[in-house]
Amino acid sequence: MKTGAEYIDSLRKLKINVYALGEKIEDITEHPLLKPHINAVALTYDLAHNPQFEDLVTATSHLTGKKINRFTHIHQSTEDLIKKVKMLRMIAQRTGSCFQRCVGFDALNALYSTTYEMDQALGTNYHQRFLKFLLYVQENDLVSAGSMTDPKGDRGLRPSQQPDPDQYVHIVSTNDDGIIIKGAKVHQTGIVNSHEMLIMPTVAMSEQDRDYAVACAVPTDAPGVIHIFGRQTNDERKLGGEIDQGNARYGIVGGEALTVLENVFVPWDRVFMAGEYQFTGMLVERFAAYHRQNYGGCKGGVSDVVIGAVATLAEYNGVAKASHIRDKITEMIHLVETLYGGSIACSAEGRPTKSGAYLVDTMLANVVKQNVSRYIYEIGRLAHDIAGGLIATLPAEKDLHHQEIGKYVKKYFTGVDQVPAEYRIRVARLIENMTGGTAQVESMHGAGSPQAQRVMILRQANLEHKKKLAQYLCGILNEC
Ligand code: SF4
Ligand code: FE
Repeated sequence: MKTGAEYIDSLRKLKINVYALGEKIEDITEHPLLKPHINAVALTYDLAHNPQFEDLVTATSHLTGKKINRFTHIHQSTEDLIKKVKMLRMIAQRTGSCFQRCVGFDALNALYSTTYEMDQALGTNYHQRFLKFLLYVQENDLVSAGSMTDPKGDRGLRPSQQPDPDQYVHIVSTNDDGIIIKGAKVHQTGIVNSHEMLIMPTVAMSEQDRDYAVACAVPTDAPGVIHIFGRQTNDERKLGGEIDQGNARYGIVGGEALTVLENVFVPWDRVFMAGEYQFTGMLVERFAAYHRQNYGGCKGGVSDVVIGAVATLAEYNGVAKASHIRDKITEMIHLVETLYGGSIACSAEGRPTKSGAYLVDTMLANVVKQNVSRYIYEIGRLAHDIAGGLIATLPAEKDLHHQEIGKYVKKYFTGVDQVPAEYRIRVARLIENMTGGTAQVESMHGAGSPQAQRVMILRQANLEHKKKLAQYLCGILNEC
């Protein structure tokens, strides 16, 4: 298993093509926009070497019997699924932001069971190829980005009906050596500091969309791959100063990018689906369920930090004992534990797939994510209510440290007497950072937009059974 420093070293060796703010980045490990995200992933490596967290952050490879970082593991039991959620909450409590590595973790697990069942049904040999890739990831302790979301162009049209065929990643040609793919993936969490991207279809495909039914592994620095880094709320603050960033070490959410695939060659041994449109639905649904499972863990952990921050600020403001403040904090705790409870429940109710790898209860996983898309806003609303208006009006760090006016900032931003104004400003900035925009949008749309969960919830609800229950009780049916 690598350490965080070894992970960062391994990134330096990549020849990755990343643009940010209109410029090509020479060294991703030194760029102020990217550093916080890299620090967050580095922690997923360092925690695996910490005896206190070893049980959560490491696992035993079912391929080799060796100790591996859990982020490269295939779930072998419901205990593994539960440990995943506990690990995510624990790490999020330490980063206060997204640590990105779960997307590839979920892609590995979704591909594992889907390639197995695809081979059983169709006589293909994708699973063996995938096992070789998985071994490579485990042995080298790599970060994979889960590259699922396509740009989608006109949402009313199927992939093959789009006027621009590149709105969904597709196979342009195949030869004896491999395939050539073209298109793009959007909202790619952590991709610019990942080693590999696991490309998967974003929707269930039909026969006409056969060329779009493609899954494969591509190094993030492969020829023809271009990453264009996205902006976040207040990201210019990363270009200078520390206090104004709120969380200078780990940033806000995961650092997303638009990744363009301009005729990228993928050798056959890295291709895990090429035209088997019948299995796209299974792959999409399993990946989505694994990723939705996570959100009561990671957003639970992040929200623990928000609760701690508002409780601290309430103390600094001298209102910690006010009953309405305590009640609002209680409500925030209740919301967080409800999210966490859902993630634990969908893990405890997990089942083995035909491959032997465990999958979460997909209904409950979708419910968790649906709740996250609402509760995180409510937690943020309560945080804003408790924190007060200063999170939106504070002067800059430079004013705080200014020779002439700094004394006024300190004097008039002091709350209770014993606490320096700088502490009050620091914690207010943290709340602003964690609740001020980008993080909420990520909670809404990360792991799929709310409507995607509602489709799954209704599809799995067995409404006919519920109707029969009612019809039996009121005497319409004699049995149910
Ligand atoms: Fe992991 Fe959460 Fe970030 Fe998704 S949003 S990659 S689950 S930390
Ligand atoms: Fe996410």
